[in-house]
Amino acid sequence: MSEGNAQAEPIISVAPAEQVKINEQQQQRLQRYIRVATLYNLLLLLVAGLLLVPVIIFVVIPATFTIVTTAWLAFQPVPGWYPLRILAFYLMGTVAIGCLLFLFSLLVGYILPRHYKVRASTRTFAAWLRRWLRINGRRLLHWLLVLQSCLLCIAIQPNLWWLWMALLFTCIATLQTYLSPLYAFRGVKRTPLTDERLVNVLNTLCKANKTNIQHFFLLESKKPGQLVRANAYLAGWGKTSSILLTDGLLKYFQHTEIKSVVAHELGHHVHRHLIKRQLLNFGLLLAELFLYYMGYHWFQFLVSSSSSPSNAEVIALLFFGCLAVCLRLSFWQARRGYRRKNEFWADEFALRATYDVQAFKNAMLRLGNLNDIPLKLTPRQEKGQTHPSTMSRLQHADEFAIRLAQARRVT
Ligand SMILES: [Zn+2]
Repeated sequence: MSEGNAQAEPIISVAPAEQVKINEQQQQRLQRYIRVATLYNLLLLLVAGLLLVPVIIFVVIPATFTIVTTAWLAFQPVPGWYPLRILAFYLMGTVAIGCLLFLFSLLVGYILPRHYKVRASTRTFAAWLRRWLRINGRRLLHWLLVLQSCLLCIAIQPNLWWLWMALLFTCIATLQTYLSPLYAFRGVKRTPLTDERLVNVLNTLCKANKTNIQHFFLLESKKPGQLVRANAYLAGWGKTSSILLTDGLLKYFQHTEIKSVVAHELGHHVHRHLIKRQLLNFGLLLAELFLYYMGYHWFQFLVSSSSSPSNAEVIALLFFGCLAVCLRLSFWQARRGYRRKNEFWADEFALRATYDVQAFKNAMLRLGNLNDIPLKLTPRQEKGQTHPSTMSRLQHADEFAIRLAQARRVT
């Protein structure tokens, strides 16, 4: 991996910046919230685990038998593809998982944040519920389409469906990444950044790092008096490569801090993290689908050799359910680990591009204060995150300052 412009001269003077202080009270509330949310999550998982066996015996087995013996659900527009039967199985699974997910989300996303006054806790229950239904409704539809298209492809291309599907999903994801800066965000206006001084600073930053970002956009809330959460995003590639900055970032951050945040996004751009992530996702998806392909052959063998197809369906459902959970969890962990490495290198790039350690640290602390980001995480908690904790990023900045001082002493 490239390490950015290690030899470049500082492109800004280090402005005398005040040191941003972490909000201690807010951190205490956040830590209590995390502890209690983890405990309740474990309790919910325990209850779900205890309910698993009775649910399988009294719900899954009878429902599976009903689905496979209902004639109209066996409709096949293409030989070997049963869209209605798949829909019925899918709904059965999502109702059970949806109930559990709703309890998780209600607790962690609504009740506890309000109690501990963290993370958008001002949202009303109706607003929270609307948002939850919108997000999960979209997710439900997305996964239904993925499942139906995979099973249709299995019917048409039984031997190479896993390869075609991995290619198709990767092409769609790549196109989505390319077009993402042009999307209309819900409740958010996207306009070109007009602050001339800031645009000049950012263009100079790009030129100094021999890279080109086509557009800088401002994201503003459509609701008067409201701000979009302080943040910046890299989106698109090639002609659509853009950095999007929120009005929350422009309101609360100094220019040197905004520059650090943008330099971080620029680091993702220079190291081509979006494309590399797509390649990694393609590889993992290919492996995942191939393992399902192997499992599918096992399932076919089981059905053909079983005297009781309904039992075979139940066993296959459980087998695929367990396989999906194991694969999703392990690949999710692999993706998270890779994202955290990307974040480290983007931070390193930001420090090398600006040489402004204080501005970088201030930006991280402001992000933590404004967005309810915990300062410290345990190693286990950190593994579940896409971004390092604020403390890890501050330590990284301090280590960079030591390295820089040593390099200057040598020269
Ligand atoms: Zn990042």
